[in-house]
Amino acid sequence: MPKVNPTHAADSSVYHNNSSCTERNNIETRNKRDGTGGKTLCSHCARLNREGK
Ligand SMILES: [Zn+2]
Repeated sequence: MPKVNPTHAADSSVYHNNSSCTERNNIETRNKRDGTGGKTLCSHCARLNREGK
């Protein structure tokens, strides 16, 4: 399933690890950073992961 390496936006308090997450896909390239950034997992990603999407 599309679980991917963690990504976060520099100006956000959450990180994303599911490629189906629309918030993840909306991160502007200039704000995109690798890793969790020590942030909490996005609730949308958490739900997608839990549903196996
Ligand atoms: Zn997300």
